Amino acid sequence: MPSPVAQIADLIRRTDHFMVAAHANPDGDAIGSTVALGHILAALGKDFCLYNVSGLPRQFDWLHLPAPFHDCLCGAEANWIFVLDCGSPNRVGPELHRIMDSRPMANVDHHLGNPNFGQFNWVDESYPAVAAMIAELADELGVPLTGSLAEAVYLGIATDTGFFTFDNTTPEVMELAARLIRQGLQPGAVIAKIRNQWTVNRFRLWAVSFATLEMFYDGRVAVAHVTREMMTKTGTDTPDCEEIVNFLRRLRGVRTAVILREEPDGAFKFSLRSTGVDNVQKVAARFDGGGHRNAAGGTIADTLDAARKRLLAALGEELGLV
Ligand code: 5GP
Ligand code: MN
Repeated sequence: MPSPVAQIADLIRRTDHFMVAAHANPDGDAIGSTVALGHILAALGKDFCLYNVSGLPRQFDWLHLPAPFHDCLCGAEANWIFVLDCGSPNRVGPELHRIMDSRPMANVDHHLGNPNFGQFNWVDESYPAVAAMIAELADELGVPLTGSLAEAVYLGIATDTGFFTFDNTTPEVMELAARLIRQGLQPGAVIAKIRNQWTVNRFRLWAVSFATLEMFYDGRVAVAHVTREMMTKTGTDTPDCEEIVNFLRRLRGVRTAVILREEPDGAFKFSLRSTGVDNVQKVAARFDGGGHRNAAGGTIADTLDAARKRLLAALGEELGLV
């Protein structure tokens, strides 16, 4: 039996017309792996389109794209849909989710509990980022990991490992980063493009969100929130909330950091971050969410107070904090 990467490479070699998609509200790995796979397909002369229900967030506008990003369904005639970095099929957004069952799909992912929803599944939790899987695919297909492709891969692996600081920073991903740098990628310049994208408005939103900080379970859980009103008042939007939670985890003694973000429909999206053996994916799964052992999320359709209470109760039970 050929390896999953060899099977995907074979699929790409013998077919044409692809659509590449990733999860809504895309992070660096979702965008990095979508763009990287696009560059590989372009290098092979394949026909493809790039789709994300949230479009390309502004913070990634420095990327060199192999094709424009569509936020309406593209590639109606696509033979295969690549779904990247999606732990569950509904994460692609309603538009694509609706037609998914009737289309051949390749599911390439690294989330715990991915239900293998594709006709073809390459799901491996041992990879810290889907972008690292896409890099292996480039190797398999003989596409050099240089230039814009290398930058897109670096975006994915750097952001999903917290810039090579989380527990998922494997020797292999460090070796991949080293290879990209050896082949010409300028890490300082790329990281500046990834990180130095803040608007003053975003800074102001973080200030009001940090001001909501509360500590629970004897200082072992830190919780903050962002409401729509806070975003409206500071002129910000959902992508500006990304990473707040990673900073809450820096508090001394905190085992789990939590941020609750109000969605346009009034529900609360939560993000959980832990370290070591504390498995927050199990907590998120109780609310139909998911993710990884140390980084997970989901949505609770309830008021802020009720959502926080339910989440804290689940955390207490699952992590034995009570
Ligand atoms: P974040 O908290 O940054 O949104 O996501 C952290 C991790 O949890 C990511 O790997 C993300 O894919 C996963 N995640 C976040 N929200 C959801 C959700 O609603 N459902 C599932 N299955 N995974 C989620
Ligand atoms: Mn990822």
